[in-house]
Amino acid sequence: MVRILIVEDEHRIANSIKKGLEQERYAVDVAYNGTDGFDLASAEDYDAIVLDLLLPGMDGLEVCRRLREEGKHTPILILTAKGQTQDKVAGLDSGADDYLTKPFSFEELLARIRALIRRPKNSLPIVLTVGDLKLNTQNFEVKRGKQKIQLSSKEFSLLEYLMRHPHQTLTKEQIISHVWDYNADILPNTVEVYIRILRRKIDLPFNDPKAGRAGKKALLHTVRGFGYKIGD
Ligand code: CA
Repeated sequence: MVRILIVEDEHRIANSIKKGLEQERYAVDVAYNGTDGFDLASAEDYDAIVLDLLLPGMDGLEVCRRLREEGKHTPILILTAKGQTQDKVAGLDSGADDYLTKPFSFEELLARIRALIRRPKNSLPIVLTVGDLKLNTQNFEVKRGKQKIQLSSKEFSLLEYLMRHPHQTLTKEQIISHVWDYNADILPNTVEVYIRILRRKIDLPFNDPKAGRAGKKALLHTVRGFGYKIGD
């Protein structure tokens, strides 16, 4: 079990990260201030720490510096507010391994955490496959059969999230919390709109009834009243 500590005083962000990471089967602890964060981080063995910089009690830089002084080498990902470049520099100077600027999407955070943990036996495949649909998470290429499909970055994130959980119904709430920024204003039908766009790109062009048996099966399904899934 991979253990992650989140040190973040904004409860909404902390709890939403915790929920997302737990769905990815990480074990997650949360500290809502720097002092508790430091105490937990020095007492327990985490695989990674997500550390906000502006914290009540002890600030993030101090937490980071003191952990390193104590000889704790747990990978630390610092969260900084937009545009505070000097914070990033100070964070990396104080011994952090990486930083992420708010607002960020959950998929971005997850990718950073995976990179920090670098556990090869757990690593996910670079190319995700559902039926004849392939998504390359490294060069961002998406193909159905031999045909390349162009997606915007949001469409790509949405498809990647669905393809990481094939044959599984995902609710709109799960999709929003994984694919959109925490601070983004999401309209109730945003997910539907993006699903419709994806369907137009990955299913409809391949599903021409005139093609008869050459037509391909739809991959993207609406599970009425529950959400969406990819694959049967
Ligand atoms: Ca904060």
